[in-house]
Amino acid sequence: TQQLVWPMAQFGQVINMYQRAEASSERIFGLMDETGRIDREEGADDLEVQAGRVEYDSVSFSYEGYESRDSDETDRQRETAPTAADDSVEADHPAEESELIIDDISFEVEGGETLALVGPTGAGKSTVLKLLLRLYDVDDGEIRIDGQDVSEVSLPSLRRSLGYVGQESYLFYGTVEENITYGTFDAERSEIVEAAKAAEAHEFIQNLPDGYDTMVGERGVKLSGGQRQRVAIARAVLKDPDILILDEATSDVDTETEMLIQRSIDDLTEDRTTFAIAHRLSTIKDADTIAVLEGGRIVERGSHDELLENDGLYAHLWGVQAGEIDELPQEFIERAQR
Ligand code: ATP
Repeated sequence: TQQLVWPMAQFGQVINMYQRAEASSERIFGLMDETGRIDREEGADDLEVQAGRVEYDSVSFSYEGYESRDSDETDRQRETAPTAADDSVEADHPAEESELIIDDISFEVEGGETLALVGPTGAGKSTVLKLLLRLYDVDDGEIRIDGQDVSEVSLPSLRRSLGYVGQESYLFYGTVEENITYGTFDAERSEIVEAAKAAEAHEFIQNLPDGYDTMVGERGVKLSGGQRQRVAIARAVLKDPDILILDEATSDVDTETEMLIQRSIDDLTEDRTTFAIAHRLSTIKDADTIAVLEGGRIVERGSHDELLENDGLYAHLWGVQAGEIDELPQEFIERAQR
């Protein structure tokens, strides 16, 4: 087994940056301290992305056999618990469970389209994407990108093709510029500024004491949640990945900033295959497809309008968030606890 660190960057750079970052306490996507049993195979072909079509074909997975995650991670999940059904789902999850966390899931995302994953805490949304990143190998089935089985392509080529912006996007101790170029080689200052502008970050960066050379991260200038997020978006803009993974931030930024962030995210996802995990359904209502996950299975799939019509879990979650109904009906809570 091998300790997987920052998954999006190229490996040579990772070590260097990782050490400088004093990153032991930092994490992206909660991944850094997870242990996978994936070995980097010699001589695997590089992934070649064309349209960026992603296919999950009868994928099943359980964490059985992996070291259980640390208590910290459990705490994190509790803190971010968004729905009524959460506590019990977390509570009856002993570390060594053998149940399928992902249970025979199949779906496709066409190149350039956006798939949103929604569902109660513990439903398996993050796990679905960890399998795409190959932080873990599937137990059954296959995940293909443009027809290539992700478990058979070289890991660095896979990670190069994937970009991540999310609530765990972190800054390491370094300059703003270094934080933006993280994961990309050889960027000119002008490109970095372009990326920052696209991410609505240029203005606040210019107002920092040393502009793009300002030290941020631990021991550096403290940035707000919204600012950190915009640096993460700039990083993704610069990296220009074939496939983007968005894990919605729940950070409380003001409405104007939120609108700016949403606009830059919209630009980033346009014409790019995107996976979005959303807690606030309003942010993903325009996704091409919304997949509702419950207990490791996709229980509903369709556009926002189709799902409202369906009057199932999504329609009820939507009702709760829109303030139309007070709480999730008992039948859905019980199902999530199954
Ligand atoms: P959230 O909305 O809270 O992020 P989620 O839908 O993304 O939840 P996952 O994080 O994919 O759900 O978790 C699915 C299930 O797998 C949960 O029961 C969780 O406790 C369990 N799980 C997640 N990571 C691990 C791990 N590293 N080891 C063991 N079990 C895990």
